[in-house]
Amino acid sequence: MEEKIQIGIIICDRYRSCAGGKCFRSLRNRQGAFSRYRSVPVEVVGYTTCAGCPGGNVEYAVEEMKKNGATVIHLATGLIVGYPPCPHLTYFREFIAKRYEIEVVYGTHPIPQKYLLMHKSLGTWSGPGWEEITRETQTDEKTRLLYD
Ligand code: SF4
Repeated sequence: MEEKIQIGIIICDRYRSCAGGKCFRSLRNRQGAFSRYRSVPVEVVGYTTCAGCPGGNVEYAVEEMKKNGATVIHLATGLIVGYPPCPHLTYFREFIAKRYEIEVVYGTHPIPQKYLLMHKSLGTWSGPGWEEITRETQTDEKTRLLYD
């Protein structure tokens, strides 16, 4: 059996009361950014919010997640799809990767269809860098509708 991957998830504090339903369902089903673990066992070793703009908890939470075994940090899909998307998204990724020498992945569950349509109509994701940011969570329409 392949070695288990241990991950930490950081969510946007706007969704602090979220019970993690979409993230955990997509992890179980290996959808969205979790499809990369299709044939690998995964354990969530940390789940927390950024603690509110500008994300002060990012500095500390990852240290604890890493101590607990995390080798990959997922910046939850809420950071990508919020209105507006988190303005610190790319900074968080760069900071975490540099400071903790750990892989950082954009997203968790598939982007829901309603968010995709709204951001397309707003042109939110048409600028540079967004193709990479949304790549792992775009999926197909059928899957996106399951996460609306
Ligand atoms: S927008 Fe970014 S910094 Fe602000 S609460 Fe959400 S994740 Fe944190």
